[in-house]
Amino acid sequence: MKKAITFNDGIQRRWSFLRVMLVYLAVCGIGIFVMINSINKLMKEHDKTLTSQMCSVIAEKMNNSIEYMTTSAENMSALLSAQKHDDLAKLYEDMSDLQGDGYVSLGFVGEDGELFATDTEKEEFEKWGLMEIAYEADPVSISAPYRSGLTGEPVFTMFARMTYGSGKSCFLFLTYPLKEIQNIAYTATLADDTEIWLMNAESENIIQCAGSNKYAIGSWANAMLTFEQSMEPADKEAYEEWKESLKLNIPSEAVVYHIGDVSYTQVYSKISFMDGWFLVVRVPSSAMSSAMESFRTIVLVFVSLLLAATMILFLLTHRRDEADRAILENLSVHDPLTEVMNRRAFDMAVQNYLSRPIKPECAMLFIDIDYFKTVNDKYGHDAGDKVLVEFAALLKELFGDNGLISRYGGDEFLVFAINSDKEMVDEKMKILNERAHAIRPVTEKEDDPYHVSCSCGGAMCPDDARSFEELKSCADTALYEVKEKGRDGYGWFVM
Ligand code: GH3
Ligand code: MG
Repeated sequence: MKKAITFNDGIQRRWSFLRVMLVYLAVCGIGIFVMINSINKLMKEHDKTLTSQMCSVIAEKMNNSIEYMTTSAENMSALLSAQKHDDLAKLYEDMSDLQGDGYVSLGFVGEDGELFATDTEKEEFEKWGLMEIAYEADPVSISAPYRSGLTGEPVFTMFARMTYGSGKSCFLFLTYPLKEIQNIAYTATLADDTEIWLMNAESENIIQCAGSNKYAIGSWANAMLTFEQSMEPADKEAYEEWKESLKLNIPSEAVVYHIGDVSYTQVYSKISFMDGWFLVVRVPSSAMSSAMESFRTIVLVFVSLLLAATMILFLLTHRRDEADRAILENLSVHDPLTEVMNRRAFDMAVQNYLSRPIKPECAMLFIDIDYFKTVNDKYGHDAGDKVLVEFAALLKELFGDNGLISRYGGDEFLVFAINSDKEMVDEKMKILNERAHAIRPVTEKEDDPYHVSCSCGGAMCPDDARSFEELKSCADTALYEVKEKGRDGYGWFVM
């Protein structure tokens, strides 16, 4: 079965091209989305890994430092034990004036719990429950950081078990400023916006060790009050989980959250000896992922340019295809001499129209030039062609707006007037008969009495016939009648 050329072929082609383009764009869009997502994920992972490594390195440094302090406390207590001092009060008096190795003060807890310390320290022992920590020393124990009553700065106290006199057991205590381990966290190479804190899991209190605000270093703050409130609500759940793992004493955990436009990666690491205290490193993603971000931008720009280039290429190719198709279609659809439709195209177009379920009234007209052979014989073939061209132009002028016009063969034309009633077509056929007289085979013979005339026969759809072949045959019959009656006229099919 032959495929009919339809009026909508062009539109359908454009649609299918558009559909291909949309599918292409959608696939590319999904591709870009997946790619950007993967890069973002990669960046997140990269930030997490780097922050975790940074955190564990600093925590390790702190742990080493604390270990060094505990070792010196142990050595000192061993030395004092070996010296077998009889009087702890005297020992305290002698030693309290000595300049210590990093510690701010020193003292003793006697066998019976007597405290050899300054009055302020005695108050601090009371306030922070330090005596209990002293008894935990085996051979050493460390208190949590607390605010010194003397300096107002964060300090912590280390206890070491020792003996005096005749083997009596007591504790040496050394109070260190937290700065001693805090400073370890500070590295000149760190970006200014990298924050490092010591954080208490229970109270959520933090002691700033490094950060953009230099004045805040060494100060206490509460994480909740400082920044948790400004956190994006979507991140709060993850943050709560992070805090939970801190309280559950899980050694290390990372979390990513946003404050405004900035995404932060935050990791904690356990500090040995100080129960409930953790080292926390917080890095804004911009500090680490800037290289990755520029990579992402480059990829995005490159892919967008590639997409635009392929789109332009597609469009150009499509436009060329369309132009080629138009040339081919024109050749296969039109009569090259008169440029009206050829027989094949006309048949398909009318059949396609008639196959519509709902169609308004229309007319089929068979039109033939009278005695055309004589034009050829008398004026020559070229003059005959001229007549054919001018006659076709006249048909286009009269019926072109809402009709299909074809050269059906020789001097025979078929017109299919769409959405036209009998009166309208009647009027046009009359005008056609009149105006055909004005066509001259040769222009130079203006006074030549010969004039072109034509005969037309018409049939109405659906009144006379509904199918293409029937309509054509009815119109042909009507034409025959007109020719029989002497030509140069028009008439309708009569049943
Ligand atoms: P009638 O009134 O009965 O139609 O008489 P007629 O002479 O027009 O007869 P007919 O329609 O049969 O003649 C058609 C002629 O058209 C025959 C042929 O020589 C001529 N013809 C066909 N195609 C062309 C063409 O492309 N160019 C020219 N110049 N003449 C053509
Ligand atoms: Mg003829």
